[in-house]
Amino acid sequence: MNDRGPILPGATLGVMGSGQLGRMFAIAARRMGYRVHTFSPDYDTPTGQVADKEVAASYDDENAVREFAKGIAVLTFEFENVPSQTVGWAAAHCPVRPSGNVLHICQHRLREKEFLAGAGVPVAPFSKIENAAQLASAAEHIGLPAVLKTAAFGYDGKGQRKLHAGDDLAEAWRPFEGQPAVLEKFIAFEREISVIVARGTDGAMTTWPVCENQHANHILDVTLCPARIPAAVADSARDLAKSIALALDLTGVLAVEMFLLADGRIFVNELAPRPHNSGHFSFDASVTSQFEQQVRAVCGLPLGSTESLRPSAMANLLGDLWSGGEPDWGAAAKFPEVKIHLYGKSAPKPGRKMGHLTAFGATVEEAAASVRAARAALLRQK
Ligand code: AMP
Repeated sequence: MNDRGPILPGATLGVMGSGQLGRMFAIAARRMGYRVHTFSPDYDTPTGQVADKEVAASYDDENAVREFAKGIAVLTFEFENVPSQTVGWAAAHCPVRPSGNVLHICQHRLREKEFLAGAGVPVAPFSKIENAAQLASAAEHIGLPAVLKTAAFGYDGKGQRKLHAGDDLAEAWRPFEGQPAVLEKFIAFEREISVIVARGTDGAMTTWPVCENQHANHILDVTLCPARIPAAVADSARDLAKSIALALDLTGVLAVEMFLLADGRIFVNELAPRPHNSGHFSFDASVTSQFEQQVRAVCGLPLGSTESLRPSAMANLLGDLWSGGEPDWGAAAKFPEVKIHLYGKSAPKPGRKMGHLTAFGATVEEAAASVRAARAALLRQK
């Protein structure tokens, strides 16, 4: 589709996927006076609850996809695992941002790694694996420990296994049989960091301050912003994220997860061509949130300032918190500088992201202590 100038408030924006990222996108868009339609296979979703219209249909339903695309000024995503064919159907009727090509690269670990390596971005040594023999020779070549990951549909540590010297590799390969995988050298990082970058239709780019991410059971637990790293390292991380956005010819928001080594080297682990859990702090703690920036970028508006208002920390609220009954929201609300975000999900399963808290402080350490204390207060005493 040809560009016809910026898409202005009053227009209808479409988002594929219907989770919490779409919900916060919809809140940002509606605050600016846009209408929002969401498309996913589900009904009464986190995004659908705050959108103007929720379409529940399969991504393979060509008619439904085309009808949806006819009713919106631009299509964006909160979820990258949308089939390429679906994106193609939509692109016949409205601009799609980011492009189907960006989604295609980022929805597959191997394509993503090959793209990054080809663009000169440092990544952990890796190898494509399709059978046990390839795993054995790659393990020899790359060295153990290493991490075996499925190439498609992996997230939050799903479809992953760490391999150690002496492991039975044929046995380790068995659950991966039948689908392509990637073996990656295990990186003994000092910290995990991420940079969220946005790029507008005019090519202008912004990044938020670098985030420092602490994981528990492979799931993001707490993000501190700004990361406690030297300014020069932060500058190179932000420059690296911009170079990736440029190489992708991105329009939209991109999260770049990175490993920071003790000697200051950075390896890129993963890309997500949309707002990211580690950027949730920006909803409360930045002049422009990652969600508002997604609206601005995909609508062809100038990008907003990514300056931080205060040091902040974000803590995820997983379904496990519900194991003793409904969390004590009143107790968390007693923290005057803590923001409560809940995503409207009814079934609190273990590991499921139900919401998050954001806290501020004079320093990130203070903010982190406050957000952890507020989360602990949610747990009901038995
Ligand atoms: P991913 O699904 O690739 O984001 O991986 C989830 C988490 O597993 C990361 O945030 C890291 O904590 C860990 N991890 C993944 N790959 C590696 C690696 N090559 N070296 C060390 N840790 C890793």
